[in-house]
Amino acid sequence: MSDTTPMMRQYRRIKQENRDAILFFRLGDFYEMFEQDAREVSGILNITLTKRHNIPMCGIPYHAASAYIGRLLKAGKKIAVCEQTALPPKGKGIAEREVVEIITPGTVLEEDYLDNRRNNYLFSFGIYGSTACFAYLDLSTGDFKATSVKKERFHEYLSLELNRLDPKEVLLQESLYDEDQVLRQIIGDRKSMVINRIPDWHFDQTDAFQRLCRQFGTANLKGFGIDQDDPLVMTTAAVLEYVGETSKTLLDHIRSMERYTDETYVGLDTATQRNLELVRNLNDGSEQYTLLEVLDYSRTSLGARRIRSRLLHPLRNMEQINSRLDALEALYRNQILLGSIRDELGGVLDLQRLATRVALQKAHAKDLLSIRNTLSSARRIPGLLQGCGNKEALPALSPEQEMTLDRLTELLSESLHEDPSILLTEGRLIAPGYHKELDRLRNARRDRKRVLDEYLERERASSGIANLRIKYNKIIGYFFEITKSNLKAVPEHFIRRQSLVGSERFTTDELIHIETEVNSAAERAIELEREVFLELREKVRTSLDELYACAEYLAEMDALASFAYAATVHGFIRPQVGGSGGIIIEEGRHPVVEKHLPPGDFIPNSLRLGGEDPPFALITGPNMAGKSTVLRQTALIVLMAQIGSFVPAARAEIGLVDRIFCRVGASDNLARGESTFLVEMNETANILRYMSNSSLVIMDEVGRGTSTNDGLSIAWAVSEYILEKKVNTLFATHYHELTSIENPGLRNLHMEVLEKEGEIIFLKRLKEGAAAGSYGIHVARLAGIPDQVIRRAAEILGGLDDGAQLTVLPPGAGEIQHDLFGADDMVIQEIKNLKIDSTTPLEALNFLARLQKTL
Ligand code: ADP
Repeated sequence: MSDTTPMMRQYRRIKQENRDAILFFRLGDFYEMFEQDAREVSGILNITLTKRHNIPMCGIPYHAASAYIGRLLKAGKKIAVCEQTALPPKGKGIAEREVVEIITPGTVLEEDYLDNRRNNYLFSFGIYGSTACFAYLDLSTGDFKATSVKKERFHEYLSLELNRLDPKEVLLQESLYDEDQVLRQIIGDRKSMVINRIPDWHFDQTDAFQRLCRQFGTANLKGFGIDQDDPLVMTTAAVLEYVGETSKTLLDHIRSMERYTDETYVGLDTATQRNLELVRNLNDGSEQYTLLEVLDYSRTSLGARRIRSRLLHPLRNMEQINSRLDALEALYRNQILLGSIRDELGGVLDLQRLATRVALQKAHAKDLLSIRNTLSSARRIPGLLQGCGNKEALPALSPEQEMTLDRLTELLSESLHEDPSILLTEGRLIAPGYHKELDRLRNARRDRKRVLDEYLERERASSGIANLRIKYNKIIGYFFEITKSNLKAVPEHFIRRQSLVGSERFTTDELIHIETEVNSAAERAIELEREVFLELREKVRTSLDELYACAEYLAEMDALASFAYAATVHGFIRPQVGGSGGIIIEEGRHPVVEKHLPPGDFIPNSLRLGGEDPPFALITGPNMAGKSTVLRQTALIVLMAQIGSFVPAARAEIGLVDRIFCRVGASDNLARGESTFLVEMNETANILRYMSNSSLVIMDEVGRGTSTNDGLSIAWAVSEYILEKKVNTLFATHYHELTSIENPGLRNLHMEVLEKEGEIIFLKRLKEGAAAGSYGIHVARLAGIPDQVIRRAAEILGGLDDGAQLTVLPPGAGEIQHDLFGADDMVIQEIKNLKIDSTTPLEALNFLARLQKTL
């Protein structure tokens, strides 16, 4: 085992060629790992690290490898499986070994390692001249997309797409990785993502172009909107090249790709995706308390993946949105139909991944049975639509596709065993009656009872032994058993096999012959059954296009049915999209907050923004008044409309937006140890740079991360800048000073608060005009901050309001004054703090009443 042994030399050579993967080195019944691999794996899997001849090693049993592989993939590791491919010549020396498969998180296909509710993406990107290119592939479903943008937008796009796609693995140019520090930081944040650095010389325009044409069986790539000299081909071909090399599988099922552009989807930058809590909450990253949770009532994993992807890819094309809404409305208006479709979808399995298994020649008989059952359910859906009002709006398969699928269903129904095996080696694959020769061989096996019975009768008659029996066991096969008392009558041609206490066992030439016949028929039946099955699988493979089309149809249906069901359960309505470019929401609600409150507790709010109304709404109000909720709900309603969902409101008119920007809450990044203020400013810079006048900007408490004066000035300047650009914006702030910005594009709104007997009640209602005061200290009191601290805070606030410069009296001074003057002093402070200009007569009266109480 030392360095000098041939085996260790072999190990080192193979490891050298697979440096970026954990090498599973097959030794007898174990996969062994050595040195650095062993240290790493023993840590991840929590298995014992041993040492032999000073070389650290650990091993896992070959038959249990799959569970360990799953855990390593989750931890973001690649695994190179190295098997013995030839025994040592004449038993001397060592076995030959070769890496037969590289399993990676982004290319894995085994169901056990995949999350069926999510796509599993391999993501590739690169920069060529002034263009940044991105491509991604889910090998398990054949979903393959690509886009390119100007180089200046590389980082923005990269982090946006990483967030949106959550790929398990990336491919990138080596030089890019070496030279671009920001990029390293962006991808470094994703701990369990495998990063593959591909040497730059691997990227060649001509090769890449040909590689893609070969893949898609086309002469050029015009059909995909890609020219021969488009740098996108390099990034795209790199994906195929890598997948082909690592998984060593055919890629027949990847038959097309889709190019999307900057204009296809609503831009949602990283902060926006995070802050709107679309598919992950800010708290623990789970799906609880997210928009996904509110909208995903899918019955299939096809639908679950479709909905998740839809939430992250809102559309910008009005016709596409409206056709989704038409389809949704058709189902929504027919609840009985909706119920039956959802029932039928309950029987649908993951047809995309099943079709891929067929494409890759990995499907077993149960997979084909699942395909058949899924097709049967799918083909019953059109029948359900008979009475549906607007059936044309719903997705449909073409008559040719339907015909092929019907033929396929029929074929599978008559050919597949009703309870098939997942192995190819034990029969139980093909139904009786489907294949003549197979039936004959099987009958021969079944006939054995009759043949044995006849033979037994003959031997009984000729020997005169009435209780002569034929028995069977696994070790000696068929035998005659003769009790001690009958031994005298044993015929000559009986051959003794075994002696037991009370009996003896014999065989005969004829019995051996019968047994061989039976066995060989059984063997031939199994072999033939395997062949018939493989032929059947090939036949299914000729209909791959139709299978994927059907999977697409089911994914669409399930997503629609899910949205229609969500609309029913949560009382959503159809939004009007397009129009004046403004946003009009009547009685809007926050779908997620509402879902987690008792029914009826959520207070709806109406809002008009842009169009004929001012584009900029400045919302003031104390903390806890409901500002963030109104902000987010507006963004969510717009987003829901643009993914083609109904929305939580009494009425909604949504002018389409090209991007949504949402900056909410300054403290969220604290946990990551970054400077809150820097993060906030980065995000704000991003908004100001990329917003257009069709964007929707949501800003909550900009400037909170720095000192009051700095924060206020920044918030002010940012507001003015946005106002100048006339971008639809909701801006929440606790800086009351902002309410005095004079601009016709600005409308002051506030969250209504009621003050009663020294307590404040948040009505959660959005009202015209600016708020009266910030109430921060009252909220602190509500939160249970000790009185002494509250009084001191009131003192300091008084000092602040006196002048621009913050002059804080030493705490002691406050204490003494308080001791001397007690409650009187508090009253003086409160009067000092009162903003006469913005106090209504009713509020003034309430104020006086409260003061009187404290004296
Ligand atoms: P702010 O941003 O002003 O500090 P939030 O929007 O965070 O306030 O809301 C404070 C609390 O009130 C949250 O717990 C939220 O769930 C609840 N809330 C907000 N708006 C409403 C509403 N319209 N109806 C019912 N509860 C609400």
